[in-house]
Amino acid sequence: MPGPQLRTRGLAGLFVLLMGVLSPGLAEAKKLNVITSTTDMAALVQEVGGEKVNVEALAKGYQDPHFVEAKPSFLLKLRQSDLLIVVGLQLEIGWLPALITQSGNPRIQVGAPGYLDASQFAQILEVPQGQVTRAMGDVHPMGNPHYWLDPGNGRRIARGIANKLAEMDQGDGAYFQQRFQDFDKRLTTAEQKWDEEMKPYRGRKVVTYHRSFPNFAQHFGLDVIGYVEPRPGIPPTPSHTMELVALMKQENCKVVLVEPYFDLKTPQSVGRATGAQVVVYLPSVGGEKQVTNYFELFDYDINLLTKAFDAGK
Ligand SMILES: [Zn+2]
Repeated sequence: MPGPQLRTRGLAGLFVLLMGVLSPGLAEAKKLNVITSTTDMAALVQEVGGEKVNVEALAKGYQDPHFVEAKPSFLLKLRQSDLLIVVGLQLEIGWLPALITQSGNPRIQVGAPGYLDASQFAQILEVPQGQVTRAMGDVHPMGNPHYWLDPGNGRRIARGIANKLAEMDQGDGAYFQQRFQDFDKRLTTAEQKWDEEMKPYRGRKVVTYHRSFPNFAQHFGLDVIGYVEPRPGIPPTPSHTMELVALMKQENCKVVLVEPYFDLKTPQSVGRATGAQVVVYLPSVGGEKQVTNYFELFDYDINLLTKAFDAGK
């Protein structure tokens, strides 16, 4: 016959088991609900948050992050979130601030503990000096917000996210830090491979459509000599395109990189005029179905780039 103590423990165990069966949401409820503006931030949250978070991005990886069409489902997702992570530097200014207000979720309002601007962790390029005017373009008044395409920034952002998750879910702090250490290790290994693959192409000149590429270019030693857009957020003009073609001929630039959400007409005419390869590269995770995480993003772009450089010799 089991003693009374053992019987009690058995009953408690049965109770826990029953609760698990009757309300599977109970175990789920312990997870932090994280929403991010873009897929790249979601990918980094997934790396350090593992199974202790539910994470989803609002924008798709193939969308222009400056101009995302808000869907009703965005509000629902924002309402249910414990933590909102944004790229910041006004990247999302055209679509996100109104949604945050409308969500009515006090946890994720600007300045609340559940609002995290990831740009604070990253190295930011093209920060305007002196007074900012409209002549500089419409969309990058605080520095370049496309900062995640540098493994060094990926590491810094992931560390910032791990610290934030640990602050919000203190019981799992060690778990998040351990996940970050593991990510850091895998990233260092991958970085050595990427650096090696890109080494023969250091100093190569490229043109990009939008200024989405400065951190990648800096990390891998590429030289971005011009842009298909005359200014950030301003569509191509015939006179600017002519100047760009002349510059590319003069500098012997043989690669034009285009983000997947821009019209290919102007880049292709530039390619025809200069003999340059026109490459649709991915600025974000999810830009193509097979690119499902931060590592695959670099694998994909480096593969495209090295092929384009070889073809353009
Ligand atoms: Zn931009």
